[in-house]
Parts: sequence; C-alpha cells; structure tokens
Amino acid sequence: LSLDIAGKVVAITGASSGIGEATALRLAQHGAILALGARRTDRLDAIAERIRADGGEVLVHALDVTRREQVEAFVQATIARFGRIDVLVNNAGVMPLSRMADLKVDEWERMVDVNVKGVLYGIGAVLPSMNERGAGQIVNVSSVAGRHVFATAAVYCATKFAVHALSEGLRQESPFLRVTTIAPGAVESELTSTISDPAMKREVDEVFRKDVLPADAIARAIAFAIGQPADVDVNELVVRPTAQP
Ligand code: NDP
Repeated sequence: LSLDIAGKVVAITGASSGIGEATALRLAQHGAILALGARRTDRLDAIAERIRADGGEVLVHALDVTRREQVEAFVQATIARFGRIDVLVNNAGVMPLSRMADLKVDEWERMVDVNVKGVLYGIGAVLPSMNERGAGQIVNVSSVAGRHVFATAAVYCATKFAVHALSEGLRQESPFLRVTTIAPGAVESELTSTISDPAMKREVDEVFRKDVLPADAIARAIAFAIGQPADVDVNELVVRPTAQP
C-alpha cells in the first residue's frame, strides 16, 4: 500500500503524548513535515529530537488550544516556516469523566473548551489559507464516545458528538477540503489522567480499559486517511480493540 504523505506539511495539536505523539512519529516515518503543538513543550522537544535524528523536519510550538490567539499563532508559525499547511490534525482532548450529579462544572467547561472550542479554533485558523489554495485536509479526532453515550461520560460524549457534527457540516460545505473524523475505541495513552476522582479513574482503567490499542494503531489509521490521493476523502474511521464490545 503506497501512501501519499512524503512532503506534506502536517500540524498536530496535542502532540506531546498518546495518539498525537504516535501520529507525529508515524507520519515522520512516511516523510511528512511536522508542526507539533501542546502545552508541555519539553515533551514536544524530545519527540522532535527523535524525528530530527531520523532526518525529519519538525517545528515545535507551545499551544493551549483553549486560547484562540495561540491556535492562530501555531498555524501562522507553521505557514511562515514551511509555506503552507496541508493537513491539520485536531487531536488535543481531555476526558475528566464523572457523574453529572457530582456537578464538576469546571470540568464540563474544560471539556467543552478543549474538545469543542479547541477544534473550532483549529478549523478557523487553517480555513482561510486552505480556501485560498483550494486544497487541504482536516482530521478531527473524535471517539466511539461520539457515536454512543455512556454513563459518567455525558459531557465527554456531547463534546465528541459535536466533533462528528462539525466535521460532517464542514465536509458538506467544502468541495475541495478533505475532512476526516477518527473515532478510536480504548487506546493506551495518558487520557484517564484527567479523571479527578481516583475511584472513578481506577474503575475506568481496570474495568473499561482492560483491552487497549497501542496509540500507533490510531496513528496508522490517520496515516491511511492522509495518504489517499487528493480525490479520495476518507470521511470516518472507527477503530476499536478487537475485544472491545
Ligand atoms: P493523552 O492524554 O495522552 O493526550 C492528550 C493530548 O492533548 C496531550 O498531548 C495534551 O498535551 C493535549 N492537550 C490537552 N489539553 C490541551 C490544551 N488545552 N491545549 C493543547 N493541548 C492539550 O490522550 P490521547 O492521546 O488518548 O488523546 C488524544 C485524543 O484522542 C483526544 O481527543 C481524546 O479524546 C481522543 N481519544 C482517545 C481515546 C483513548 O482511549 N485514549 C479514545 C477515543 C478518543 P499537553 O498536556 O502537553 O497540552
């Protein structure tokens, strides 16, 4: 299978761990030119060092996706350095699960800010230049929680349902833009570290996440979608561990 990735400029949000990190490393192997954004720049620097040691080209940028001006700056820095963005991967996300009756309103707000508004800021930041060029791809990382609702995840699911809706609306409006939604099942990462209730975190880790995919399984799905010819838009990929119900 040959994938058309070499030389493409790909910007990834939340590239400091988990799926974002694995995607950066996987795409670098295919010859992509990378822009990596996240808050933990020490982690980004270490990933960039690995990529450069293998001859890859990469830019690192401090990024909090809840800050619209920082998302703009990340995109503008990438365009200034590499001349364009071919693909934006809106991957940054948080999952502080809780029951609604616990009224963790700050955490609800955080999920909306990162998982929904962060994605919107990303789309808003790349659309003008992609429109101008008449080409581009936006990959939004949603979840199987964007397809099915489960208890303790009402708000998280709501944010991921929103990601599916945004992707689909954008796709219909943009004849030249490739829009891809990735919906992973359980994947090994640091995602449950955002669950503030230790008992809830334990239950999620031990009961619901017994079988997890390596993050590279999702990176390969993203590489597949990016690597298609320009007239092929992989709209949606759902990828679960085989054993996940
Ligand atoms: P991780 O916790 O390992 O990675 C999350 C990434 O998001 C980190 O790089 C983190 O970087 C970044 N991030 C969080 N908040 C912000 C912010 N405000 N600004 C910028 N970056 C931020 O988890 P995953 O790799 O699992 O998560 C990646 C995506 O995959 C998320 O959207 C998640 O919802 C989705 N997903 C994950 C699944 C799983 O089972 N793991 C299943 C389905 C979907 P930093 O803290 O350095 O800013």
